[in-house]
Amino acid sequence: MTALWWARRDLRLADNPAATQAQSESSAAAVFVWTPEISRWSGRRSAHLARVLWSLRDATDGALAVRRGTADAVVTHAARDADASVVFAAREYSPAGIAEQDAVAAALEADGRELTFVGSPYAVAPGRVTKADGDPYKVFTPFRDAWREHGWRAPASALDPARLSGLPRHEDDVDLDQRAAHGDTEDPLLEPHEFREDRVLAALEDFVAGDLERYASERDRPDLDSTSHLSTALAFGQVHPRTVLALTAKRRMDAARVFESEIAWREFHADVLFHHPTARRESLTPVLRERDWLTGRDADEAFMAWRDGRTGFPLVDAGMRQLAQTGWMHNRVRMVVASFLVKDLRVEWQRGADHFRRTLVDYDHAQNQLNWQWVAGTGRDASPFFRIFNPDTQASKFDPQRRYVERWIPELDTPEYPAPLVDHKEERRVTLDLYQAAKSARS
Ligand code: FAD
Repeated sequence: MTALWWARRDLRLADNPAATQAQSESSAAAVFVWTPEISRWSGRRSAHLARVLWSLRDATDGALAVRRGTADAVVTHAARDADASVVFAAREYSPAGIAEQDAVAAALEADGRELTFVGSPYAVAPGRVTKADGDPYKVFTPFRDAWREHGWRAPASALDPARLSGLPRHEDDVDLDQRAAHGDTEDPLLEPHEFREDRVLAALEDFVAGDLERYASERDRPDLDSTSHLSTALAFGQVHPRTVLALTAKRRMDAARVFESEIAWREFHADVLFHHPTARRESLTPVLRERDWLTGRDADEAFMAWRDGRTGFPLVDAGMRQLAQTGWMHNRVRMVVASFLVKDLRVEWQRGADHFRRTLVDYDHAQNQLNWQWVAGTGRDASPFFRIFNPDTQASKFDPQRRYVERWIPELDTPEYPAPLVDHKEERRVTLDLYQAAKSARS
């Protein structure tokens, strides 16, 4: 009997339960759906996806089919082509992922076929870790402790590419060669993100054997740049967090526990979005009154200065330029730029989150929206709204020799570099006053 593996955010051979389950049915075919949603992604992110798929197709000797269309139509047609009565896929937990898999399940059922879920992009599936009374956790630390207590499986086995059968050519096949070879020519990246699974795994092993040791003390230092850079591979499912956790657990040291805790944040945010689907756009906790946010032309100008790295605050500008040129930004700097947009400029977090969606290659819906809500003070267990980063103090603390800002702002010490867009102390005072006013209005 043939089965079909519907590849989603699990674009890898190693540790892939959905793909190996499909293969346990003797022979299996594989399809990835290039959806209309993906066609709306930024050029840099879709170019990276094309490379990841190109590489995986290569690793499967051409067997992975990549077809354009809606998931329900493509998966059903591919199942018919493969004569597969069962389709295996990793379950998604975001609102869009759930809607997509519901549509696929219904279309397959109408065609006399079945969708079976095996695994997810998380070590522990969202919704699984709950308080004793069954309620979801609101606060991260007890979530993380319960998540650790719950534990996760050892990595699953790998897909055997030699036993994957190809699907017939189709008019909706995506021309990966073209897309992967050229990338996004209008928006080239300074440092392409790794797209080959074997190199991602080799880089992970290097990190575990090397920089991990310094992770606890250096993770906040953008100048040292010693974090794992695993976020892009995790976002596309080129590596499963379970594989990462199994490797780091071998290093019995505090830094490995700190690193594990960051993976737990990824799981916590997915859990929060699963329980609160509106969090993708709406603040979970109100902070300012509607009228207190900057709007109209003032908001547009402030936003553009922020977006283009022209605020006159070096750490903010360096971060925004790193993002523009590489599609990645250091976590500490992500926090500082987000805080600056929301709390110094009083531009709503959704606008910043949309800009990150257009520019990050590691963009992950749950992580992006919930991290923005965390910084904006509007999320579950968020950083309190009244904690407002001073971008200059952050710079002297985390980039003491100014290496990071000098790298990204060549004109830093010249007259071309703009004066500060706002007076941080003054904006901080105004924002806190407005916050108090909003609080009193609510009580
Ligand atoms: P490391 O420090 O090496 O951490 C290892 C892994 O742990 C990361 O790859 C990531 O999967 C996870 N992790 C680390 N920090 C966080 C965190 N704060 N929240 C959730 N997971 C975390 N991460 C994304 O993957 N996609 C996003 O779209 C995204 N948007 C963000 C937006 C804002 C405003 C902020 C403040 C953070 C955002 N993050 C996002 C989280 C974090 O900044 C990145 O995961 C991290 O910088 C990636 O670098 P790294 O892989 O070297 O991280």
